[in-house]
Amino acid sequence: MSNNAATSTEEQIRNVAIIAHVDHGKTTLVDQLMYQSGRYRNEQLDKMAGGQHGLVFDSNDLERERGITIFSKNCAIDYLSDAGSNCRINLIDTPGHADFGGEVERVLMMADGALLVVDAYEGPMPQTRFVLQKALAQGLRPIVVVNKIDRPDSRPDEVVTEVFDLLVDLGADDETLDFPLIFASAKQGWAANAHDERPEDMRALLEKIIASVPAPEDRSAEPTQMLVTTIDFSEFVGRVAIGRVRAGKLRDRQKVTVIDRHGESTTQQIGQLFTFDGLDRKQATEIRCGDICAVVGLDPVSIGATIADPEKPVALPPILIDLPTLHMT
Ligand code: GDP
Repeated sequence: MSNNAATSTEEQIRNVAIIAHVDHGKTTLVDQLMYQSGRYRNEQLDKMAGGQHGLVFDSNDLERERGITIFSKNCAIDYLSDAGSNCRINLIDTPGHADFGGEVERVLMMADGALLVVDAYEGPMPQTRFVLQKALAQGLRPIVVVNKIDRPDSRPDEVVTEVFDLLVDLGADDETLDFPLIFASAKQGWAANAHDERPEDMRALLEKIIASVPAPEDRSAEPTQMLVTTIDFSEFVGRVAIGRVRAGKLRDRQKVTVIDRHGESTTQQIGQLFTFDGLDRKQATEIRCGDICAVVGLDPVSIGATIADPEKPVALPPILIDLPTLHMT
């Protein structure tokens, strides 16, 4: 990553949470997006290399194999949009099972939009309602993805109406009721704007994300603030703090003030920084405002802490927390 990349070529960021009732196809959808984003990248490389087929497919198959187990938190897609912009889409998983201790709220705080995946046969189910309610409470406007429309018993139009009725029931505003809509078969690997279209890939979904999910608020000129939403443990590097840079930017080796949710603060030095790259993590020297990253080298650091500028250490508003829900990996 270059530190002085011209702003005109800077990637556009979109942070999207994926919410769904269990078994409605969230994992399959992400798996396909990961698989195909490798293919998009391959096409771009092909164009640059004059049409030679590269190795991306092979390495991507491996990624894909591992992906099913790895996708428990975040992953990212680098995508060249139809309009020619480089886009980085951070996909944020939300637990589909019963929520304990505000985990759903915490991860939703990283997102500016949501993909609501609904089975085209079953329609909205109790967890659909549960997570949708939480997304709406955080001001997220969902893109509705009616999935599994390859099923012979699918009833996409009725399911769209059911989602609409659910949104009305949950008190959604008019703009939210006019939701962007995608029909998909995650299993067959395609997404369409109309239920009788059968495109070859999932571009329509990625385009919809870029068009409908707001870009992160640009607070890049302000003092650094990152809210820690998840903590990972690695036997090699210890605590890994994951969250979104809300203001300013982060640099590796930067001195920061870590303010925990009780207001206790310590001044520490960041070790390494990572962004998400497909299902892996990629080391970075700098993380821009709005991006989601993993920070290594801070201890103490806990969920709900703010990583702040030591010159102007201002804590972000506290978030819901219940320690038993920590991710242990
Ligand atoms: P999750 O619990 O939401 O992550 O759901 P999964 O992705 O694990 O999918 C649950 C089941 O639905 C699996 O058996 C999938 O193969 C199946 N499935 C997912 N997407 C589709 C789809 O588009 N069409 C059909 N027919 N089945 C699907």
